[in-house]
Amino acid sequence: MMSSLLQRELGDGFVVQSAGPDKDLAGRPANYRSVGCMRERGLDLSGHVSRWIGSVALDGIDWIVTVGPDEARRVRAHLGNHSATVIVANAEHGGIPDPYELGMDGYRECAALLDRVLPGIAQQIRVGTGSDRIVFWDFDGTLARRENLWSGALLDAWRRVDDQAVGTVEQLRPHLRDRFPWHDSLTVRTAQTPDEWWAALHPVFVEAYTALGVDAVRADEAASHVPAEFYRRDAWTVIDGAEGALSVTKTAGYRNIILSNHAPELPTLVDTLGFGGLVEQTFTSAAIGAEKPNPAIFEFAMARLGVTAASDVWMIGDNRIADIQGARNAGIRAILADGAYPNSTGMTVLEAARHLVAFTNKER
Ligand SMILES: [Mg+2]
Repeated sequence: MMSSLLQRELGDGFVVQSAGPDKDLAGRPANYRSVGCMRERGLDLSGHVSRWIGSVALDGIDWIVTVGPDEARRVRAHLGNHSATVIVANAEHGGIPDPYELGMDGYRECAALLDRVLPGIAQQIRVGTGSDRIVFWDFDGTLARRENLWSGALLDAWRRVDDQAVGTVEQLRPHLRDRFPWHDSLTVRTAQTPDEWWAALHPVFVEAYTALGVDAVRADEAASHVPAEFYRRDAWTVIDGAEGALSVTKTAGYRNIILSNHAPELPTLVDTLGFGGLVEQTFTSAAIGAEKPNPAIFEFAMARLGVTAASDVWMIGDNRIADIQGARNAGIRAILADGAYPNSTGMTVLEAARHLVAFTNKER
């Protein structure tokens, strides 16, 4: 129970394994009461098989959490030269009582105690590994830009089916206003597959073309090219200083995470543009169903990363509402980086990264 609850608490950035100090208890399934108790929390222990710590490769294991001081002593005896840190859960009260003889109510009480104790242990582990330091980065206008963004992609798709296309981005733009999911950030949708996401926008693209006099057949064909044109590699430019900015925060021990109101294939574009080594993970609103500035998208990302707003979390972006206000409403510190624009009032993305690190160094 403890390992699956701790895994959920720590998120995808950690691997939590389970093992015990008793060799003769290895190879058994989880107690049916544990399975039932965890099922009540949406966790599946049905495939669990117990292991003996002596059979576990200890390389790469940095933290061990035990249910009591006696287990901690026995685990330490197995560690030899390994430098893992051993934590006793609920140590100040002698550990987590064994619910084995206490029936289902005992297991439920045990799980409830773990619910109270594990957030603090997870936080201790995150701080100890520096993984509680997160910078959320906006994408469009902060790290990269696509010329004329969506209207540009529609024009490019139109030209693919008609080399005589006479429309302009200025003509297309009004037909795209208010038609994308992020124009209704108050609504949290159910997550969609990439096909569903694009299918919902297809009629919007068709309408934009037909409004400009394109016939229905050609409009439909052009609309079907928009996804590939939008994400065409050579339509995108990396913003000056973006890679430097990501390096500054990464070197200072921050995990760089992209959090963007975007279409489904943003993670692939991030890799294609060469950000892969600097960015740990990319969250696109299309895959989540929530859009900045809605706090739901920030909370989703923090839960997946195993951090809370009380951790060392920042947002850097170029949009005062979506990025700055949205982050602050979710309890996250935010820096406006709109220096890529001629009429900007803030700083460049590289200056924003340096500001963040300087602030952090002063605070510590
Ligand atoms: Mg932006």
